[in-house]
Amino acid sequence: MENGTKTPIEKRIFTNRNLKLKTIKAVGFDLDYTLANYRSPEIEKLTFVKALEKLVSQKHYPKKLLDFEYEENFAIRGLIFDIKHGNILKTNKFRYVKRVYHGFHKYSKKERKQLYTNKKLDLSSEDYRAVDTLFEIPETYIFAKLIDFFDKSSPKSQSSSYKWLYDDIRWAVDLVHRDGTLKTIIRQNPEKYIVKNELLPMALNHFRKNGRKLFIVTNSGFKYTTFVLEFLLGENFRDYFDAIIYSSSKPNFFTHKDPFKIIEEDRCFEAEKGNIYLLENKLGVHGDSILYVGDHIYGDMLKTKQASAWRTMMIIPELDEHIMIKQKVKEDFKKLIKLFDIKNNTNRKLENTIEELNKLIREKEDEFENLSIENIKQIDSKIQKLTMSQNKLNLKLTEVLTNIRSLEENIDKSYNPYFGDLFKEQNELSLFGDQVLDFACTYTSDLTNILYYSPTEYFHTPVQLMPHDKEPEFLDIEISEINEINET
Ligand SMILES: [Mg+2]
Repeated sequence: MENGTKTPIEKRIFTNRNLKLKTIKAVGFDLDYTLANYRSPEIEKLTFVKALEKLVSQKHYPKKLLDFEYEENFAIRGLIFDIKHGNILKTNKFRYVKRVYHGFHKYSKKERKQLYTNKKLDLSSEDYRAVDTLFEIPETYIFAKLIDFFDKSSPKSQSSSYKWLYDDIRWAVDLVHRDGTLKTIIRQNPEKYIVKNELLPMALNHFRKNGRKLFIVTNSGFKYTTFVLEFLLGENFRDYFDAIIYSSSKPNFFTHKDPFKIIEEDRCFEAEKGNIYLLENKLGVHGDSILYVGDHIYGDMLKTKQASAWRTMMIIPELDEHIMIKQKVKEDFKKLIKLFDIKNNTNRKLENTIEELNKLIREKEDEFENLSIENIKQIDSKIQKLTMSQNKLNLKLTEVLTNIRSLEENIDKSYNPYFGDLFKEQNELSLFGDQVLDFACTYTSDLTNILYYSPTEYFHTPVQLMPHDKEPEFLDIEISEINEINET
């Protein structure tokens, strides 16, 4: 199974910064969406239903909410809540707002520009919050659904701030996670909500090769973590690990110096709370000899990078499906390149025609008195011909632009009907795509993908390209692709 390049593309590990597994002496794991994958949309539906029940029973929201159905494929990671305006935003990597939904109403370009002008979003402001984990997907839908509901049932509330609604939803979702509502249901029927990946024990043993130490740092508590690990790895799950830190309070774990509350110290060091320095001392491994595997862009990737020299592998469960869709829309994408080529040619021809036409009209005007009737007739005939081709070119341009728009919309909707591609926004990286590039040394869809690689694999960064490097003259493969498209 080894050798990265022969690995199926959806199982590959991608590299942002060189990583030599040979130099790694300890590998740490997050729990949720890293060691434990949750079934979608089952887990989202459960959170949705239980959070709405809390709003009805404890915050006296209308009973009608209990009839609402969960719509999967509404939200993606990397979106931003605009709490004040009750909007859900998608920005590009420069933090400029490129897509806005108020409830299920998509803002037109004009509406968007009016509210968000051309300023970068200040994501540290309390008015905004990023959707960083897959656990936050259901509340993003609840936010849109309830805004839609309240705007329609009491239109007056539309002008005021939506902070009350956001706070209530946050409270309800947080509560179902905290008070055991979700955990109790998951524990009663774990197969329904947690994916039992048979390759996980093998993958952990693979990571363990070369005498590497393995550990877990999770924000989940002792009871739930041990339940999930027992479900995934059996009752002897401790045999796989040298240390397990429960209730770790990441990201503070990486930046603060909280003490450990030790639960067990002998075979597998187990503790609650704590901090990175104590853990490194316990393991006897430090800094860039440690690889940390997690799914949270802020708590697992950004903070480790800021506060330590730990290397990272980000788990992006969405990547598998994303790559499948990318393969499906490959042909559409080629057509799009061809259409852009035709658009540019048509535009050029149109500009030349207009220029020639204006030249003839000017000539006729300026020289009219000196021209013979024959000359004038000739010019008129040329003007007529050029006007006809101008009209034809105009019609062609409209047709091409319409085709480009519908093709772009189709490609976009294949990823997500509301927010498009997780990693991109139009031709740029999305905020999420940029963060993955910036903070994760490597990324992959599932940690068991390690089985396709050697335990001492050297993950190389691909050659980085500047826009001028991407010109067809420098990329033979693109020239041949473009020629092929032009010939068809
Ligand atoms: Mg997690």
